[in-house]
Amino acid sequence: MYFRKTYKFKAKLSKTTEQNAVRWLGLCQQLYNLALEQRIVAYKRCGISLSTYSQSNELPDFKKAFPEFQGVNSQTLQDTIERLGKAFQGFFSRLNKIGAKAGFPRFRSYHRYDSFTLKTSGWKLEGRHLKIRGLGTFKLFLSQPIVGKIKTLTVRRDGCGDWWVSFSCAGVPAKAYPHPETEVVGIDVGLSHFCADTDGLHVANPKYYRKAQTELRRKQRQVARRAKGSNRRKKAVKELARVHRKVARMRLDFLYKTANHYISKYQTICVEALQVKHMVKNRHLSKSIADSGWSTFFELLLYKAAEAGRELIQVNPRNTSQNCSGCGAKVPKALATRVHRCPHCNLSLDRDINAARNIAATGSGQLLQALT
Ligand SMILES: [Zn+2]
Repeated sequence: MYFRKTYKFKAKLSKTTEQNAVRWLGLCQQLYNLALEQRIVAYKRCGISLSTYSQSNELPDFKKAFPEFQGVNSQTLQDTIERLGKAFQGFFSRLNKIGAKAGFPRFRSYHRYDSFTLKTSGWKLEGRHLKIRGLGTFKLFLSQPIVGKIKTLTVRRDGCGDWWVSFSCAGVPAKAYPHPETEVVGIDVGLSHFCADTDGLHVANPKYYRKAQTELRRKQRQVARRAKGSNRRKKAVKELARVHRKVARMRLDFLYKTANHYISKYQTICVEALQVKHMVKNRHLSKSIADSGWSTFFELLLYKAAEAGRELIQVNPRNTSQNCSGCGAKVPKALATRVHRCPHCNLSLDRDINAARNIAATGSGQLLQALT
């Protein structure tokens, strides 16, 4: 089995290379906004919806009129037009969905345009040195070898002013996973802890965000106090971005480790089909839920299950916490009741583990149905 995989590395740039990279970012941002304006004008004046194809075809003439764009890789400019096309595709598909905010594609400011992409030409990777024609050399911190065929590479500047290069590769062979120890596991995600499973494991909620909140608030105040446009303010903004980045990284690391645990140990993994978006609307729970990162966790599980040849089954979450996993009777309980006590079969166990057992039972049933 082969997969698509993205490798991301931090990069070090010389002063000149950085200036060039910033210039490319600026030009791509300009092109993006011009192309967006062109689409809006064409629609307002003539009722025409311009396509990505027709806008790409104009690029050669556009470069003649604005020679400063000639130094930029043509595939990079083309990708900029394609990004706008994708923004419109997203907009149109959201238009047809009931309840979703459509959100017309926006003009991008300097800070909101932070990356450009190269495809097959105009760059060379020699060891840890990435040479981009017309730009310069990026020294990469290659934390792992790149496997597969590089399809695209994206250069990004983050909020802290650091540079990153991501390589999107095709034909990456699947990682070898150990033979699963156990057949089925049910996982219940909770608020008091991150998740609980049928083996009785409770994974605690790390709550990085809440812990980092004091620091975030302090940094935010610092930004607010400093004069707009001042260098001191810019510095404070960078420091704030650094705290955000640290929290995001710790969270992702935790999610990876947890997903890996389940993928390595079990063949069939049953989880709730959560509609996290609806749940986040509930104000009191929202901070914990957004903090838990369940949707990212489920995405990771899905991806890794495909890679490892495991089964991920999503179960309707209805009544999983109310029903008794021993006899199936409905035992209503408040959110604060942590122990499930069944008056019918005298089963008494942790509420989340009871839910996990129900999820595993429903999931196994679904799998059996699918197989027969
Ligand atoms: Zn019971």
